[in-house]
Amino acid sequence: MTWSRQQGSRDRNKECWSLAFYSAQVNQGKERQSLIAWTVDIMDLKHSCSVKLNDGHLMPMLGFGTFASEEIPKSKATEATKVAIDVGFRHIDAAYFYQNEEEVGQALRDKIADGTVKREDLFYTTKIWTTFFRPELVRQCLERSLKKLGLDYVDLCIIHMPTAMQPGEELMPKDANGKAILETVDIRDTWEALEKCKDAGLSKSIGVSNFNHKQLELILNKPGLKYKPTCNQVECHPYLNQSKLLEFCNSKGIVLVAYSALGSHRDPNWISSDSPYLLEDPVLMTIAKKHNRTPGQVALRYQLQRGVVVLAKSFNEKRIKENFQVFDFELTSEDMKAIDSLNRNFRYSKMSFAMDHPYYPFLEEY
Ligand code: NAP
Repeated sequence: MTWSRQQGSRDRNKECWSLAFYSAQVNQGKERQSLIAWTVDIMDLKHSCSVKLNDGHLMPMLGFGTFASEEIPKSKATEATKVAIDVGFRHIDAAYFYQNEEEVGQALRDKIADGTVKREDLFYTTKIWTTFFRPELVRQCLERSLKKLGLDYVDLCIIHMPTAMQPGEELMPKDANGKAILETVDIRDTWEALEKCKDAGLSKSIGVSNFNHKQLELILNKPGLKYKPTCNQVECHPYLNQSKLLEFCNSKGIVLVAYSALGSHRDPNWISSDSPYLLEDPVLMTIAKKHNRTPGQVALRYQLQRGVVVLAKSFNEKRIKENFQVFDFELTSEDMKAIDSLNRNFRYSKMSFAMDHPYYPFLEEY
């Protein structure tokens, strides 16, 4: 069922509606017009709610992240994804690069087989890894993911980041000096190949990840563009709140999806150990105490109230449950302002291996 923002709320889903209304109210001026035109679709997913993408498909606003460090046994991904589905998550975020799609797929198939969910209740995202960016390789990457998953389509397939690397079986091809072997592939050509995957029915929706606004514009202004990106998945949390990129995406009908919303996985292979611990921030802790919630729940709720789709990774049963309990409380506008003021443009995942690539995305302000 679909309501536009201008229409009233329904008791059954009052909570989701008030979320949408709040973000319309806080975004004044230029942004307001586009937000009002944006429609929010409510689904009865145990009080979760969904946003309508610019291609008409629905994306649940809270997603379950599946990236885990190499040291974590892959089987954990099956167990955790099953728990996530049991507690109510319907949006699962995965990637070819995570090397656990077989295990995540097992969980999906088990939960479909035991009657907990139907395939159409789930929203599954995969990503095209950088070594498959040459147009002739894009479909191959998606087909490999589908094979591992045991599914015949994904709900969303996104370009993992704009910086291509040398094709081959190595996920991280390196030269003799240990430097990543980058190559330049026009992201518009990769996008065209992804459009063909959508036309072939392999993915319902297509989008991008880690793109800055100029790179989004490159796609949006591409002559002969068939489909606009539905979303841009980026690092986003109170220390990097992406307000400018969010405003840009809103104005173009692109949904912003937040990763590392809880302060990241802190995998030492990717993230510096001296990075701040987001969930120990005194402001988040005080707000959490006031609402009788945890800092993690506050960090997730913050994104929902700004109209951002948010991912949360946990392989721990208690925390998976906790992360889903974010639809039954509301942050005040003072809370939201206090969290906004924590922004310090701090990025956990700098992806420095791609720093020398002409498309390295993080040198732009947004
Ligand atoms: P995150 O969601 O910010 O945080 C995960 C970490 O927080 C884990 O160490 C987890 O440990 C812990 N945690 C989870 N819930 C918690 C809670 N309620 N209280 C305290 N600690 C909690 O991590 P992320 O992996 O960086 O991002 C989430 C997802 O986004 C990934 O899994 C992946 O799907 C996606 N992602 C995408 C990209 C991209 O380039 N597109 C990059 C990074 C991530 P336990 O497991 O022990 O609970």
